[in-house]
Amino acid sequence: MPHISVVAPVYNEQEVTLAALADRVGAALAEITTDYEIILVDDGSRIETWSAICAVGRTDPKLRGLRFSRNFGQHPAIAAGVDSAAGDWVIVMDSDLQDRPEVIPDLYRKAQEGYDVVFVNRQERPETALYQFCAGAFYRTLNFLSGQKYERRQANYSIVNAKVVEAFRRVPDRDRFYGGTVRWLGFRSTAIDALHGEREYGRPSYSLLGRFRFAFRLIFGFSTRLLYVAIVLGLCFSVVAFALAADIVVYKILNPSLPLPGWPSVMTAVFFTAGITNLMLGLVGIYIGNLVEHTKHRPIYVVAQRTNANE
Ligand code: UDP
Ligand code: MG
Repeated sequence: MPHISVVAPVYNEQEVTLAALADRVGAALAEITTDYEIILVDDGSRIETWSAICAVGRTDPKLRGLRFSRNFGQHPAIAAGVDSAAGDWVIVMDSDLQDRPEVIPDLYRKAQEGYDVVFVNRQERPETALYQFCAGAFYRTLNFLSGQKYERRQANYSIVNAKVVEAFRRVPDRDRFYGGTVRWLGFRSTAIDALHGEREYGRPSYSLLGRFRFAFRLIFGFSTRLLYVAIVLGLCFSVVAFALAADIVVYKILNPSLPLPGWPSVMTAVFFTAGITNLMLGLVGIYIGNLVEHTKHRPIYVVAQRTNANE
């Protein structure tokens, strides 16, 4: 069993990148251990990428490749890598060298202080203003809807120990988000700051549309709070309806001989109907939310430690 497994998803990266990745990871790990493995998961890339992985694997026996039948996405690729990782510690990083391998010793040292999970906070990531705005809005929405604290500067670059890996494998979510799942698992976690590298070769494989699609899947996959919005709306409409109704009653008491004004009466009925309908929708939403949670088949608990463990 290797001491450290490094997992990186690969989508259409070039051989220079992957060779440099293997070299730099090896050099970074040299000061920690020689007992490591690198697992590259080819996420249905062009054929040249797989040839590149095989070529690098021939020169570096510590490197293993895994190839998907088609493009399943970065996070399923990470999951596949983590599933086949045997190390006491598992490091997940991008394969395009933007997650700089030189950070690995710092990650490892931080973990040795007694943490199960250490993430990297990316500093000075080159981002356009539009990207920053969208990412900021996305994380605020996600945090509000999920009630969790996802950190925008953290992606997947992290080290976790075998305990966390074992727990991770028991989460069968269909919509995968490595960092999110690891955070959901709990355990003793912390983060270190590190510079984020520039992409030297090739281009980012995510399109803007792809990023939005991923963002929406996450919001819907990681929270059911949106379903409860209907209840809040229904309550607001109901309050308005009751205020309007009270107003009409008071008007009638003060002016018994005048006919009832039509506009307030109609609006009262409209708000009342909208309020009741939304309330009912919200109630249905709660049941649907529960169903969604059940269909995820997530474990209902995660054990971190036991006393008298016979192992
Ligand atoms: N990636 C992947 N499958 C995909 C898209 C990306 O495995 O469908 C990998 C890619 O090779 C890289 C990492 O995920 O190692 C991050 O992708 P990218 O560099 O495009 O994203 P960015 O760094 O711009 O967020
Ligand atoms: Mg990148």
